[in-house]
Amino acid sequence: MGAKLTVLAGPTAVGKGTVVAALREQYRGLYVSISATTRDPRPGEVDGKHYYFVSDAKFDQLVAEGKMLEWAQVHGEHRYGTPAAPVDEALAEGRPVLVEIDLDGARQIRAKRPDAQLVFLLPPSWDELVSRLRGRGTEDATEQLRRLQTAKVELAAADEFDVKIVNDEVNTAVSKLASVMGLA
Ligand code: 5GP
Repeated sequence: MGAKLTVLAGPTAVGKGTVVAALREQYRGLYVSISATTRDPRPGEVDGKHYYFVSDAKFDQLVAEGKMLEWAQVHGEHRYGTPAAPVDEALAEGRPVLVEIDLDGARQIRAKRPDAQLVFLLPPSWDELVSRLRGRGTEDATEQLRRLQTAKVELAAADEFDVKIVNDEVNTAVSKLASVMGLA
């Protein structure tokens, strides 16, 4: 079986970042895509590691040149996209690839790459999602509301995905994802 492209989506604050970080730690051969975004870096975020932080003009150029595998405006605000070349290079090297993107982007990848595997990370419950978002305290009240609205739309689309994993306990979710990706 050739190397697989796996898409991980799921609502805000469900713990995608934590799950992906743990998976990356455990499986060295894995390539995790680095997105380009027009939003500003948060404290501690490093250009080229967490994201490629680019201007609106640069993002326009990347799209116009066909360099994005997918891109979307997330939370009605900034644009985020997956540069195609590094993904294709990693797949060509036989490395499994993980892209962590929003619902819109997942749908684009499904259309472009029918062999991609789509995984959706679910919270144990709606209340738990709200409390995780409030608890991490990285967004103000307005932004939290906006993200919760997006989360409702995303959760309603969970059945479009090939696999659903409930992020009840991080290690369990990581092993399930690893197994779905054929890493375990
Ligand atoms: P944040 O601003 O919190 O880092 O990310 C916000 C959202 O953008 C996340 O839910 C994440 O899934 C989504 N996102 C990050 N990178 C990409 C990308 O390359 N493409 C798409 N479509 N969504 C992305």
